[in-house]
Amino acid sequence: MFSSIKWKFIVVYFLLVFIAMVIIGIFIVNRLEDQQINSVTNSMEQNMETIISTSSYFASDNWVDNREGIQNTLNEWRLGSGETLYVIYDNEVPKILATTSKQFETIVGRNALSYRTIDPILVMDAFEGIKGENVIFDDSAGSDFKHLTYPVVSSVGKTMGILYMTSDLSNVANTLEETRLILTNATLMALVITVLLGFLIASSITEPIRDVTKKAEEMSMGDFDQFVSVKSDDEIGQLASMFNHLTLKLKDTIEEMDLERNKLDTIFSYMAEGVIAVDKSGVVIHANPIGLKLLGIDEIELYNNYKLDLESLGMEGIDYEEEETLNGESIFHNIDGVYKAKYAPYKNERDDIAGIIMVYQDITQEHRLENMRKEFVANVSHELKTPITTIKSYTETLMEDDIDSDVSHKFLSVIDNECDRMARLVRDLLQLSNIDYNKAKWTRKEVSLKEILKGSIAKLEILAREKQQKILCEIEDELPMISADKDGIEQVILNILSNAIKYTDNNGQIKVVAKSEEDNIKLIVEDNGIGIPNEDQGRIFERFYRVEKGRSRDLGGTGLGLSIAKEIIEAHEGTIELFSKNGEGTTVEVKLRRM
Ligand code: ADP
Repeated sequence: MFSSIKWKFIVVYFLLVFIAMVIIGIFIVNRLEDQQINSVTNSMEQNMETIISTSSYFASDNWVDNREGIQNTLNEWRLGSGETLYVIYDNEVPKILATTSKQFETIVGRNALSYRTIDPILVMDAFEGIKGENVIFDDSAGSDFKHLTYPVVSSVGKTMGILYMTSDLSNVANTLEETRLILTNATLMALVITVLLGFLIASSITEPIRDVTKKAEEMSMGDFDQFVSVKSDDEIGQLASMFNHLTLKLKDTIEEMDLERNKLDTIFSYMAEGVIAVDKSGVVIHANPIGLKLLGIDEIELYNNYKLDLESLGMEGIDYEEEETLNGESIFHNIDGVYKAKYAPYKNERDDIAGIIMVYQDITQEHRLENMRKEFVANVSHELKTPITTIKSYTETLMEDDIDSDVSHKFLSVIDNECDRMARLVRDLLQLSNIDYNKAKWTRKEVSLKEILKGSIAKLEILAREKQQKILCEIEDELPMISADKDGIEQVILNILSNAIKYTDNNGQIKVVAKSEEDNIKLIVEDNGIGIPNEDQGRIFERFYRVEKGRSRDLGGTGLGLSIAKEIIEAHEGTIELFSKNGEGTTVEVKLRRM
């Protein structure tokens, strides 16, 4: 409490006034005492001079003879109370000749040097012609007395005797005591007023300061709606208005910073890239949601000083002593995908490198597409290489001279078949490419699936017949119409049906079912052919995927039929599924929206 400015103020004021009052008091009391004693001394001197000048006895040489006259003069003389005059003459020893004391009879004739109320030194000095004075404390009266001697000298310079006067100074002491009391009271009053005034003045200074301090404390806790009232135009008022100005500025700045931070937070939160910042020790100090997902941690782990192994993220050779190792790119794989990281160092307020910021870009899709592209090129090359090699070797043989016409005819038919295969491959590739680049124009019209099915079966019937296969048809009589591209749907049916014929042995059976089902029309092509092993079923719709490459190729397949069918059905918002049991048969189910 006493450490506050208010109390320091009050104590300083108090001491100032106290010291000033004490100095003034001592000065006044001393001056008053001197003045009072001087006035007593003057009055005593005046009395003695008057008595000498008015009484003729003192002019005579022989005071002893005039002793009675002198005593009478003294008896008549009116001195102030507490004043006593002694007349002392030199009779070998100084003796009291007369006195104003009422008990003069007992006093007269006494040795002045041994009389209780007389100072012998003053008496001796006076007989030497020296006026003397002194203040002596009288034990019996309990107060100070002023002693004054006045030598009476004759015209020839002989000391005839001395007048010795004492005056009680208790009045002076009383006056001084009263003065001291008044001064003490005045000091006390002044001190009380000082404390009160000091309190008021200090309060007028400390209250606004305390107000500012309190508001600043609340500001430090994040509440910036703090204003202090400006009550004066002085330094304190200026401090208050400066504080308000500062608060407004700070509020604006913090709002701006919040806005910027929110903007950045939003950008970081919604950006497609993962952002991760680590300090020099590898502790993650910031990560956006994608970054957290990438690290496989949640925010709680992040705030628990999650330490990162940079090498596990594909960043090798990081050395904070060598700045060039802190910039670069890396590729990082995890089970979710493939990421490309760009990293760079960031600096702290002292411009020292404080850590590394990494930005991770998800390149899983690009990576997959790149792989698919490579695979596709390899597949196409491979598919073309076989017929080209065959054609080349057969042509070379044909160019030899000694080939009979039967063999050459056989060779030419092989070349023709291989050309057909290449033509089919190129046709299928073109169709896929058209679908990929949205060039395939689907002219959707109201068409009858029943009609398309009948047409397709008719086209392939001859193939089935060659293999003595039976095609059973279960097509609903009132099969609803569909909105579709006739050629596209026909292509799908031909692909599925031709597969069923291709991959079903001689004498096999193929069942084609078409029925309406809620909002859809369901087309089922079921065969009792060779079937597809379980492990291959998941990839059967991939381009160039074939269960048995050789067999499919021998049967004229390109490995693109089912993928084309899937693309077309999906372009018609339908679904295509394949169920199969190895060695038992395959069922392909197509669902298309009815009209
Ligand atoms: P392909 O032109 O080789 O027939 P598809 O894309 O049409 O290519 O079929 C892919 C592969 O799926 C075929 O190579 C074949 O192994 C298998 N497959 C498709 N349909 C059947 C089916 N009905 N029965 C058995 N296997 C089939």
